[in-house]
Amino acid sequence: MYPMEPDAVYVHETVWRHGRYRAGVERVLGALERPVAPIEFRDDDIPEMVRGGLLRGRGAMGCRREVRDPILLFNTFRFDRRRAERLAWLKGQGIETGDADMLLGYGAFRWANYNQDGDPNRQDKVCRPCWRIHLQKGCLHRCMYCGLGGILGAMVNVDEYAVHLRTLVERHPWQLTYLLDDDADPPGLEPELGSLGELIEFFGTLENRYLIIHTKTWNTAWLEGLRHNGNTILVWSLSGPTQSRAIEPRAGTTEQRIEAARIAQEAGYTIRYKFKPIIPVRGWREEAAETVELLFRRTRPDVISLCCFMWMSVDEMKRRLPVETLDPDALAAAEGAVDRMKDTRAMPFPPEMRQAIYEHHLAEIRRWNADVPVSLSTENFAMWREMSARLGYGPTDYPCGCGPMTVPGAPRLTCHPFRDAVRNDRGEIPGVW
Ligand code: SF4
Repeated sequence: MYPMEPDAVYVHETVWRHGRYRAGVERVLGALERPVAPIEFRDDDIPEMVRGGLLRGRGAMGCRREVRDPILLFNTFRFDRRRAERLAWLKGQGIETGDADMLLGYGAFRWANYNQDGDPNRQDKVCRPCWRIHLQKGCLHRCMYCGLGGILGAMVNVDEYAVHLRTLVERHPWQLTYLLDDDADPPGLEPELGSLGELIEFFGTLENRYLIIHTKTWNTAWLEGLRHNGNTILVWSLSGPTQSRAIEPRAGTTEQRIEAARIAQEAGYTIRYKFKPIIPVRGWREEAAETVELLFRRTRPDVISLCCFMWMSVDEMKRRLPVETLDPDALAAAEGAVDRMKDTRAMPFPPEMRQAIYEHHLAEIRRWNADVPVSLSTENFAMWREMSARLGYGPTDYPCGCGPMTVPGAPRLTCHPFRDAVRNDRGEIPGVW
């Protein structure tokens, strides 16, 4: 487990009164750097907890004068179909927050409608519709561009969760991989908590269905010995030495992430990398070359994805990141492209800058490996038009690092990822939203 010193630990009554769930929390408590007396809470206590500052640490970490380890909050998912009613109750108490699901025990399985009706970024972001699954929200890594610090909520009733997840999996034969926690970094509390190992072993019982864990962790030694049956894929967000140390300060360093991937690979897991987000710091070309060399010397990923830093204005980027670490030319390119970039989520770096970054990474990868599939991640369609010939894939057939149809071996897709992804829960599976 990560060394950590949370200011408080909250434990929902449904966790504290259940022997096995409580045992996991007690192991976490026992591994903290300094003792913290856990606070048991009930749903009725939540409004007061929020008013007392429970969520005070949320918000972009690069903008805060001080970032502390997150408060830990342990809870259970409710599968009682009362989500709307309970969210309305919390709102009626004057609490409006994006963390409401986590606080009330909802949000286990989320339909991501990317590139389908209702997706506001449909023309602007190549990502695939699928079910995303969740156990945690929040993170220990303190990435300066991220807002998921302050509190780490962890749901612990994986036994109950797996019952409903099995139904979801059976209803969606087209979805072969399930990305866990796109708003957390799941290994941080393991192996003490035990939830992630339990989920890995659940996937190990399935036929041709895979769990995907996307992470920046150094913490994988505990994965050895789990009955994963080859059905868990670990995807590292990888960055060069400067970015990993100066901007992602509590995540694994470049070297630690690659070593963690090597350990997982030796334990039989499929491993992948995403250079994401690529922040063009001073010396980014050399650092990309170094990182690519190291990853191929140590590991054998089955796919590598590329994605520049994006989804915010240049002013917001300058608020969050240490500007002195950025490559001056890249920063000038972003500052000079504000008008051109205002209509795309791919801001702030203009397309010629992003393309140069992708071409450089691709060339470095090809120096070491002629065959590994390389794809773009969450880029826009215009960038795919520029890069398709070089990558050898288009936006609908590339193997993606995190699914939902890219199984180990990362084959080219033969189905249509936008059209063949059909939601089939029909309101009958508890825990969906
Ligand atoms: S690892 Fe991911 S979730 Fe954690 S702080 Fe960094 S960006 Fe946020």
